[in-house]
Amino acid sequence: MTNLIIQPGIMDIAPYSSGESEIDGVKDIIKLSSNESALGPSPMAAACLEDIKYQLHRYPDSECTELRQTISEIHNVNPMGVICGSGSDELISLICQVFAGPGDEIIHSQYGFLMYPISARAAGAVPVMAPESNRTADVDTLLAAVTRKTRILFLANPNNPTGTYISNKEIARLRNDLRDDILLVIDAAYSEYVERDDYCDGLNLVEHHENVVMTRTFSKIYGLGGLRLGWAYCPKPIVDVLHRVRGPFNVNSIAQATGIAVLKDETFTEKVKNHNAKWLPWTRNRLSEFGLSVTESVGNFILCDFFNVDGTDAKSADKFLKQEGIIVRSMTSYGLPNSLRITIGTESEMKTTVNAIGRFLKRN
Ligand SMILES: *Cc1c(COP(=O)(O)O)cnc(C)c1O
Repeated sequence: MTNLIIQPGIMDIAPYSSGESEIDGVKDIIKLSSNESALGPSPMAAACLEDIKYQLHRYPDSECTELRQTISEIHNVNPMGVICGSGSDELISLICQVFAGPGDEIIHSQYGFLMYPISARAAGAVPVMAPESNRTADVDTLLAAVTRKTRILFLANPNNPTGTYISNKEIARLRNDLRDDILLVIDAAYSEYVERDDYCDGLNLVEHHENVVMTRTFSKIYGLGGLRLGWAYCPKPIVDVLHRVRGPFNVNSIAQATGIAVLKDETFTEKVKNHNAKWLPWTRNRLSEFGLSVTESVGNFILCDFFNVDGTDAKSADKFLKQEGIIVRSMTSYGLPNSLRITIGTESEMKTTVNAIGRFLKRN
C-alpha cells in the first residue's frame, strides 16, 4: 500500500457487484439480473437522440430546467423541490455525504438495497441494519435501531431485492415516531409498478414534513438504466443543500432530453406497467407450483428461495440457468445465499426461464 491516508470507512466497503450480462460462448442471452425494463424505453427516447447528436459539444443545462418542469407536470409536484442526479444512486450518496459523517449512523432494513450501506460508509458513517419480518421492512425494528447517533433512515418501498412494501400508514407511523433530526429517505424506484390501494410513493410525506425525501429513477419502468438518470423530491432547505454539493453538470444532455421524452410518453409507460401486471403473477404462480417459495413482490422482479436439498440449491440453479443462457441475480451479497432474484422479462423470456427452472428441479 502507499503512504496515502484513506478516509475512515472506505476500505470497509465491499464493492457493488452489478448484475452479470455475459456468458462465455453464449450469443443470445436472456438477461434477468438487473431489474431492467422488459420492453426497453419508449421509442421516443431514440427519436430524440436525432436532435441532440449535433449538440454534443454543448454543456448540459446545469439546472435541468425542462426536465424538472416535465417531472413536476407528470407527478404534480413543485419543480423547485426536484433535484436530478446521475441515477438515484448519486442522490443517495449525496444525501449521505451531506447529512452524515464519521461516527454517525445510517439505518436500513435487513435486505435493503446495497447502495445504502455502501454510500453510508463512503461518507464515513456506519450503516446499521434493522431486522425484517417475513422479508419485509419492519417499522418497529427500524425504530428500535435508532440511537443518539442516527442521522438518516433509508427505506426502499417497494424494496429491492425482496419486492415487498409497507403501507402508507406504516410509513406515516415511522415518520411520526422518528426523531425530527433524522432524515427519512423513501426510495420509490419501483413505485410505478405497484398496484395496491394502501401504497404511496412518499410524495405526500415530503410535502407535509421537513425531514422526508423521496427518490425516483428512470432506470426501471422508463428503461433508461444506461443513461443514469434519477431525481429526488425534497423540502426546500434540503434541495438547497443538495444543489451545493452536486456536480454542476451531473446530468448529461442526452439523459435530460430522453428523460423528458419518456416521461411524456405515458401510453408506453402504461404498456410496460400492464406487461408487468400480467407476467409478474404468472411467473410467481408457476414458481410456486414448483413448490419454490416466492416473496409477494410488487416490483418488476421476483425473489425466489430454492430447496436446500439434493443439488436443488440456488447456486446450482444459477449455474444450470447460465448453461441455458439465462442470467438471474445471485443474492449472496445480500446474505440470501439460497435465493435468486429474477427480473420480469418478455413473455418468451419468462416462458423459457420457467421452463428451464422446471427442468432443473425435475432433473434432480
Ligand atoms: C435500481 C434501483 C435504484 C436505481 O438506481 P439508479 O442509480 O437510478 O439506476 C435505486 N434504488 C433501488 C432500490 C433500486 O433497485
